[in-house]
Amino acid sequence: MIINCPVCGGDNTAKSTTKTESIPHFGEIMHSSMVCDACGYKHNDVIVLDQKDPIRYELKINEVNLSSRVVKSQSATVSIPELGLKVEPGSKSIAYVSNVEGVLIRFKDAVKRALILFSDDESQRNGKTILYNIEEVFKGNLEVTLIIEDPLGNSKVMDLSVKSRSLTKEELKGLKTGISIIESSDD
Ligand SMILES: [Zn+2]
Repeated sequence: MIINCPVCGGDNTAKSTTKTESIPHFGEIMHSSMVCDACGYKHNDVIVLDQKDPIRYELKINEVNLSSRVVKSQSATVSIPELGLKVEPGSKSIAYVSNVEGVLIRFKDAVKRALILFSDDESQRNGKTILYNIEEVFKGNLEVTLIIEDPLGNSKVMDLSVKSRSLTKEELKGLKTGISIIESSDD
């Protein structure tokens, strides 16, 4: 689409393009870009199209619901407060479809990696305690809470005993979305 440049005001000097893309388990996003032949102004950004309501899931993990399905979008913060575990959205954050057990296994693997990286006594002790406790959860000897908070509402916990509600404004302020909005005027 040829438009007037919003920067230099040139008549029909700017070309604007938009492209939508569907990302599995995440939704539709739109890339848009604009470039002006007269002044050289460039602009790119990415917009999430099917943004849903912010949501918070809380599930008491027990032996029965280990197989319940979990959809974790890129924008979700996953935590298990009793174990001091939390994963926030970031550049390496990925969306996945798994189950409650799979979420615990991901935490377990992350703690194992941390045990290799951090060799001090306290980190080793804490890490080993967490690994022990995760095993206790698998055996049904320990009850912990899985919390998934997703400002973009693309995550899901599919279990009859899950509690879900919208996130409060205060909670939203403290959460990251993991989505980088690319805005640049140079290349
Ligand atoms: Zn221009």
